[in-house]
Amino acid sequence: MVKAAVIVAPGGPVEVRDFPEPQLEPGAVLLETHYSEVCGTDVHLLHGRLAGVPYPLIPGHISVGRVLETNGAARDVDGNDIRADEVVTFLDVHGTCHSCWYCLIAKASTRCPSRRVYGITYGADEGLLGGWSERIYLKPGVHILPLPPQLDPLLYMAGGCALPTALHAIDRADVKLGASVAVQGCGPVGLMATALARLSGAGTVIVLGAPRHRLEVALALGADHAIDIEAVPSDERPDAVRELTGGRGSDITVECTGEPSSIAEGLRMTRDAGTYVVVGQYTDAGDVTINPHADLNRKHLDVRACWGIDLSHLYRAVQLLARHRDAFPWRSVISGEYPLSRAAQALRDVEERRAVKAVINPRR
Ligand SMILES: [Zn+2]
Ligand SMILES: [Zn+2]
Repeated sequence: MVKAAVIVAPGGPVEVRDFPEPQLEPGAVLLETHYSEVCGTDVHLLHGRLAGVPYPLIPGHISVGRVLETNGAARDVDGNDIRADEVVTFLDVHGTCHSCWYCLIAKASTRCPSRRVYGITYGADEGLLGGWSERIYLKPGVHILPLPPQLDPLLYMAGGCALPTALHAIDRADVKLGASVAVQGCGPVGLMATALARLSGAGTVIVLGAPRHRLEVALALGADHAIDIEAVPSDERPDAVRELTGGRGSDITVECTGEPSSIAEGLRMTRDAGTYVVVGQYTDAGDVTINPHADLNRKHLDVRACWGIDLSHLYRAVQLLARHRDAFPWRSVISGEYPLSRAAQALRDVEERRAVKAVINPRR
């Protein structure tokens, strides 16, 4: 039998259940899970805030594990065979069709209606398709990426799903050398966006967030300035950013908060003719009021949004982390490892912001 932690229904509970050992179909790969992530999305899943999620659910969309078994040939994107005992990760998005209008004409495969996501839109009734499990069943066609030997699995988990998400957002932000970048939010995505803005050659990086211990991590990951939103009220934050950017505001602002109210602030702290990228509004948390004249049109603002990741973002995140593993104390993002039996506690620690990032270790 295989043990996995399951969110039984929207609202919980979370419990450990036994599943039968899976039989591999041709092209499938079975992993022994080393680590799987607990991220803000999993808190949303616990509370039933995402549409189209089948419960019961084995969460865990970004994971790393050792290949136990393959049934026939499976290859990575470089064309190499996936071998037993290799330590690998995989793209949680599966089934992108590469034949629909969004995939082919709009070239926006993250909006492909066929895509399914491990740990989010694949339910436990369909198999071991989430990472909070001793084993993960990789269906034929799942994009598997071996970790480079110099990339420690726990270091990879420090990047987790936030790193490729932030990488996609920083791509959208088009950071020029020397640009000033404001990052709203210091959860995992905000922290990774901070590090990537720094690696992209930003001049000044300003992070707005709370609590203080997360802002300390942001400073360690390359921020020049940290604005504590528990000390600076919403209507004063744009001025605080302007003070740090020659009175004009940030060239680029990246929203990583999940709070609709941060949108108006973000538009206002960005300089005229600057760029605003929204990546944090992953669930529907409500509406917000902005002034289209003052906040958009007159400012000549470039507003962009960013949904999901594709293989290119995950691939580049893995390579980047291996290359820059010593550039920052990446692991300071990870607050703790939890066995399957403490998955509910891990969710609470993330939700109540005691943990920046929690990692499930099913071998504990
Ligand atoms: Zn498609
Ligand atoms: Zn995630």
